[in-house]
Amino acid sequence: MNVKQQKQDCCGCTACQAICPQKAITMVPDEEGFLYPAIDEERCVHCDLCRKVCAFEDGYLAKIGKTEEPAFEQTYCAGSSTEEAVVCRSRSGGIFYALARQVIEAGGVVYGVAMTEALEAVLQRVDNLEELPRLQGSKYVQASMGEEFPRVAQDLRQNRKVFFAGTACQVAGLRSYLQTARVDMQNLYTADLICHGVPSPQIFRDNVRELETRWHLKIQSVNFRDKALGWRSHIESYEGVNAAGKRKKRYSNLYSTLFGADVILRPSCHRCAFCNFQRPGDLTLADFWGMDQAQARQHARSGLSELLVNSEKGEKMVQGLTGVSLQTITREAASRQPNLYHPTKPSAQRDNFWALYRQYGYRKAAHAHYKLVERIKVPYNRLKYRK
Ligand SMILES: Cc1cc2nc3c(=O)[nH]c(=O)nc-3n(C[C@H](O)[C@H](O)[C@H](O)COP(=O)(O)OP(=O)(O)OC[C@H]3O[C@@H](n4cnc5c(N)ncnc54)[C@H](O)[C@@H]3O)c2cc1C
Repeated sequence: MNVKQQKQDCCGCTACQAICPQKAITMVPDEEGFLYPAIDEERCVHCDLCRKVCAFEDGYLAKIGKTEEPAFEQTYCAGSSTEEAVVCRSRSGGIFYALARQVIEAGGVVYGVAMTEALEAVLQRVDNLEELPRLQGSKYVQASMGEEFPRVAQDLRQNRKVFFAGTACQVAGLRSYLQTARVDMQNLYTADLICHGVPSPQIFRDNVRELETRWHLKIQSVNFRDKALGWRSHIESYEGVNAAGKRKKRYSNLYSTLFGADVILRPSCHRCAFCNFQRPGDLTLADFWGMDQAQARQHARSGLSELLVNSEKGEKMVQGLTGVSLQTITREAASRQPNLYHPTKPSAQRDNFWALYRQYGYRKAAHAHYKLVERIKVPYNRLKYRK
């Protein structure tokens, strides 16, 4: 039995799995590769906590310990890290890194999404600056939360300062779990992302296999939006070794084309409850698209972050930031974000894509729909940002 009857009602945040007193819930992938909570009937004692904890619904504010009319007046800024290496490794302006560094330097811990050696996006706990770069950069694929929510609770119970950054549904899920488990959230600081939607991890895996076969390369790392080609380009780069042991870097926009075409997003993303200004996080991070022409020219390669400051805690974090250049912006400038107003619509081709995928596999499904630029030749002198 599943916790939710309809797939579009479950964002896969794992709050239900974490709260279950019987450990009766496991996250199981469906045929599209998205994880859903499955209840072991023999262990279940029908306490219904798994349904009560779910914050993926319109009235989520009360569940995550926030009020309808927030006393705090939201403010908006844009900016970036002043350190080139930080901006280079980040997908926008590197504000996440500056926030996380501040927490670690104060003896706290950071939870964010890292890529494993097997190229899987997973939530990871980091308590030192050496490992922090692993959390930098957007991994445009749904990340597994593993069983980390109870670890967050444990850190908070031990009075550690915790900074958690992820999609709005993950932040809301975590907060709802902590509130239901009666964990004091005073030391919890959160940042949510303005999110277009999360693509299928299975499609990402298939994409890596497809490129490995085509390029005769064992892919070891991926950059989901390589700034070498410009911040707006949304082209992935892959690094790996060939049979002769030679290291190679190749480019493709096969996967990002499918992502942008809205055929591989999680069904729940198309009815996301968090596409508004009532953010679950203390801060909201995004790309800044309200730039004037001069800013657009200056940051064409490096990128700029947008920041919504949603609470006093968030404001305190921003005031303590070092190594960043930030300016206050208007709500209007911050509003050039479709996903602050409505969820991404599913493509009319979504069902067709998955039908072809089931019948013929990734390659045919992808190519049947799109004329894809599979390999992009880039002169190396344009590659300003190299690892
Ligand atoms: C799937 C996805 C969709 C997004 N869609 C938009 C959008 O439509 N518009 C927009 O303006 N911005 C979007 N973003 C946010 C944007 O890409 C940057 O992450 C954000 O601006 C922060 O940038 P940064 O330079 O401060 O930090 P970065 O170093 O680039 O980002 C690091 C942060 O991203 C988190 N993160 C990385 N991958 C994931 C993941 N798979 N799931 C959850 N958290 C993750 C890390 O935990 C860390 O907190 C999206 C991000 C993701 C992951």
